[in-house]
Amino acid sequence: MTTATSWHERPLRIVDFIPPAPDRYEALDMAEQAAVRSELGFNAEHIEVHDVSLGESGITFYPSEFAVENRKDLLTEIASRNGASGVKTIVYFNVHWLSPSLSEVKPEWLQRDSAGEVIPSAYGQGGYSCINSPFREYAFGTIRTLAKHRIDGIFLDGPIFREDGCYCEACRQQFQDEYGYEPPVGAAIASREDHDWFGFRRSSIARFMREARQALQETNPGAIIYMNSPQLAPNRLCCRDNRMTVAHQDMLLAEGGFLGGDLRTVPVWKPAATAMLLETQAGGKPYCVAIAGRLSPWSRYLLTAAETWIAHAMAVAHGAWTWYGVYNDNNKDARMRTVREINDFLAAHEEHYTGTRSAARVALLWSYATANYYQTTAEATDFTDAKSRLRHLDRNDSRQAFNGWFDALSRSRVPFDVIDDTALTDGTLGGYELLVLPGASCMAAADAEAVRRFVKAGGRLIATFDTSFYDEYGHRLDEPSLADVLGVRQVRGTRVNAFDHIAVEAGQDLFAEIDQTLVPSALLGVECSVREGADVSGFYRERQLSRYSELPDATSSPYIVRHAYGQGSCIYFTGNVDGFYSAYALPEYRTLLANAVREMIEPELECGFETDVASVHVSLRIKGDSLLIHLVNYTGSMTRPMSSVLPLRNVRIRLRERDGWSGECTIRSLRGNRTLAGERSEGTLSFVLPVLHEYEAIVIAND
Ligand SMILES: [Zn+2]
Repeated sequence: MTTATSWHERPLRIVDFIPPAPDRYEALDMAEQAAVRSELGFNAEHIEVHDVSLGESGITFYPSEFAVENRKDLLTEIASRNGASGVKTIVYFNVHWLSPSLSEVKPEWLQRDSAGEVIPSAYGQGGYSCINSPFREYAFGTIRTLAKHRIDGIFLDGPIFREDGCYCEACRQQFQDEYGYEPPVGAAIASREDHDWFGFRRSSIARFMREARQALQETNPGAIIYMNSPQLAPNRLCCRDNRMTVAHQDMLLAEGGFLGGDLRTVPVWKPAATAMLLETQAGGKPYCVAIAGRLSPWSRYLLTAAETWIAHAMAVAHGAWTWYGVYNDNNKDARMRTVREINDFLAAHEEHYTGTRSAARVALLWSYATANYYQTTAEATDFTDAKSRLRHLDRNDSRQAFNGWFDALSRSRVPFDVIDDTALTDGTLGGYELLVLPGASCMAAADAEAVRRFVKAGGRLIATFDTSFYDEYGHRLDEPSLADVLGVRQVRGTRVNAFDHIAVEAGQDLFAEIDQTLVPSALLGVECSVREGADVSGFYRERQLSRYSELPDATSSPYIVRHAYGQGSCIYFTGNVDGFYSAYALPEYRTLLANAVREMIEPELECGFETDVASVHVSLRIKGDSLLIHLVNYTGSMTRPMSSVLPLRNVRIRLRERDGWSGECTIRSLRGNRTLAGERSEGTLSFVLPVLHEYEAIVIAND
């Protein structure tokens, strides 16, 4: 039987065992090494055949005319052993970090700041390679050389531009040629020069990818290529733009499972969020979440079994392939048993992870415009520095706002997707019933118009705080571009609430299950008046002078505005309820956000637990006639890294029947390996999952 699906369109379980220093690398028993990889259940490998211990060094483990030094040919041996055992060989090629030795002989390959100085690498050694410099000839020559070997693909680590680069000779010349003036230095953010400079660097990366792919596929047409793509972060910091590069990549990969530092501050669902963004941006191509086995910055310390399971489950629950990387010295570590267990499970059930698509009807926006031009904190990555300070205390943190909604939706077990600004206007939005705009402060007029059309046609909208108060480049508008949809008549200003309260209005669905009469007000709020016909819940009070003073009087500024618009409707929270929930995790706010979603759409899936548990993430996917429910359980002992997950027993699942689901069906749990008895009533299908460990996937197949 022939299949139209090419090998990388079936689940990849990629391993990257970072090799030791050259002498030890060459002395490894390659037969034994190959056996380790297949025993662990991987079906693809990123292999390092350049010495990259201090960045790209030009020292190759295969013959290359572009090499500074040719060492033992390991590539031929590894590729042939992998080929024999069915493991795909994908060569890792570092195109962003140049070693000190190569930096010294090729200074013209390095990224430079506006003063012409080499930008030092944050890795502590060497510099950043510039993909517009003559380095590109080295890169394409290397790719052509590699293409002649028995390889299945190339992974490019990078390419990136640093925020303060690049002003090398080649970049200066090329920018001058394209734009007719010298590269701008210190251009005001969102000025024309700033747009040109950001656009130049992003399109340089897209062009590099296009030519790199040509270089590979002209010799080796079946081989695939992809780069290290950005995650949920402002892409101004690295100039990588998936929307511009995806046409020149065969797959998207991002480091959504690279966990580091104090994990208590890192959302446990980070790999899921990455997979969800990539799914939207990949446009039907495969996407992969890279999971580091270690806890950064300790490169040789492996994460616990529970954390490893959860990271993988979060990725595969959203249709992503997985990449797992540790040092080769760790490849027989006892903790590798977990990866083998995960891989064996995924391999055994490959059909249920191939060719699936999300069945979510809720979309949560990750706004690049807001992340880039408003303000946000950002995690440190291998490519960019952390951003922990906010300049404007009366403005939101766009990452926190997104995280707040993500966490609330996840813990309320609402199946949802993550979309980006592009998805508002490219036809994607119309496939959803509810759009959530978490403090989407910056929005292009065309994007606002698309949202307006969506609601007018019957779509539901939830928005918070200063959504659409700025254009896509952060210029404050006279009135919010979505004011008519939000139900806002006039914005009077923004308030900063230190210890203010909001009265809970008994009997209102939005406040259902909140047993307090007063709840804290979100720290930031918009003071506004509303349009005729808008319905208000809760009001801000006059400023409270001290924590201990009497409650001040209520004002006429609404806390929540409900507004019907066209065939659809909107709930507008004037406070930054999402960022506030992200910061304090007050359960009443999770309830409030979940109630808003329930008011807008009928829940598709409900899970009942024996105890009150919120630490389960769900995903709903479709494959042909089958529906898949993925459940990721991260119920632990109140801290991270989690040493173990507490199993949940007798999980009651109720699924609203969808079109075409009226017939008989079979319900099967893949990890538990059981057929479950379903019960139908009033348009729902109910069943009980006997036990949920870290992860379960349930397949509901139409008979
Ligand atoms: Zn340059």
